[in-house]
Amino acid sequence: MNENPYTRLPQVEKLLGADVLREYIENISRPLVSSVCSQVLESFRRKIGEGSPPPDRNTILNIIRSHCVELEKRRLQRVVNATGIILHTNMGRSPVHSEVWQAAAHINTGYCNLELDLWSGRRGGRGGIIPELIKELTGAESALVVNNNAAAVFLILSVFATGKEVIVSRGEQVQIGGGFRIPEILEETGAVMKEIGTTNITSLEDYRKSINEKTSMVLSVHPSNFVIQGFTRKPSIRAIRSILPDNVILVADQGSGMMTEQIRGEIPISRYLADGADLVCFSCDKVLGGPQAGIILGRKNLIGKLASHPLMRVFRAGKTVYSLIEIFLIEKINKSLTGFTETVLLTGEDEIKKLCRKIIRGLDRTFLDVVPSTMLSGGGSSPEKELPSYSIRISGKKSPETTLAYFRDQVPPIIGTIQEKCVLLNCATLLPEDVDHVKNVLSAFTDEGA
Ligand SMILES: *Cc1c(COP(=O)(O)O)cnc(C)c1O
Repeated sequence: MNENPYTRLPQVEKLLGADVLREYIENISRPLVSSVCSQVLESFRRKIGEGSPPPDRNTILNIIRSHCVELEKRRLQRVVNATGIILHTNMGRSPVHSEVWQAAAHINTGYCNLELDLWSGRRGGRGGIIPELIKELTGAESALVVNNNAAAVFLILSVFATGKEVIVSRGEQVQIGGGFRIPEILEETGAVMKEIGTTNITSLEDYRKSINEKTSMVLSVHPSNFVIQGFTRKPSIRAIRSILPDNVILVADQGSGMMTEQIRGEIPISRYLADGADLVCFSCDKVLGGPQAGIILGRKNLIGKLASHPLMRVFRAGKTVYSLIEIFLIEKINKSLTGFTETVLLTGEDEIKKLCRKIIRGLDRTFLDVVPSTMLSGGGSSPEKELPSYSIRISGKKSPETTLAYFRDQVPPIIGTIQEKCVLLNCATLLPEDVDHVKNVLSAFTDEGA
């Protein structure tokens, strides 16, 4: 009698006990591996039904493994950014300082006084001493934390401009990142956009002419990810303020959170306020180097109105975000701790070159050399900022695509770029703890098949 071919397929439980699947059970959970096993067995049952012979156990396990790897790669995990783009939206923008993270862990893994006033024992407000710290850094009367900068802009427009006019220069009607478009956000909030000027030129007179009794606000938006070069002009914040009636609010969506004067061409937050902006908002996970959040700062009465609006309940951040920001700001004030972006932007190219050299020291140089390249602040922060950097160039051994994939396949994955048919690992964006890993992977890569 012929054996039933279906019975030669192993059972899910048996497969789950296989040594080769143990790491996947750990990494993506037993039910997900189990579900992969069932699906793979099901597809073989169909094939047997169509007359194929039953596969052997190793063939089955290999297919299961490749599906598990796919799931594993989708997990949120640490990667090494060797692209030279400091604020890479695909890679979580700014890393959080590890010292800050450690300090926040203690607060987050127990109960905390998120809305408890420890002085009176009664219910308190969120935000701790963040407003005071922001005031220290920028001179702002008050500040408010929300989920991200898009939420900050949305909240500001909803509270002060619904049903009223908002003046926006045509040169600043930008799209930032995935789907954050100034005109669309305005429309969503029920504000009416009053477009003025042209793409390259907006004059003070354009602002003056457009003000009427329906005007609630002038919104000035940092163009973040593009530059208009050549014949271009727009009035300063100070000039715009000088022609606005008292009841028209001047809001600056600054975007990056740049606080230092050291980065050429960028206006720090404190100057926006000093020049007369009533409210300024920015992303916490760009130059500041915090978690994803938005900060709105400026006049106390306006911040108070924002804080008490029902939408604030929708946009408020959680304890993890508050704790990380508060700790970071204290460290920034006390120890001049800088966010990762600022640190990189202020690193000299010679230092980066030295780092590249250090990494390839002692390795087979047949396929490796160190070349000048550039880094970008990226992520909608400061468009012109293409700064000199250095990269390790890998060429010749395999196709650039295969090489790029080889590095992406490592644990943690190393993300490089292709330029002129070579793979570049830009060392500007490496963290100190990435260095040994990159060296080890390069060593294995150059030795492979040798
Ligand atoms: C980045 C950016 C935003 C969007 O901020 P998110 O924190 O990503 O929501 C809005 N406006 C400007 C000017 C920006 O640079």
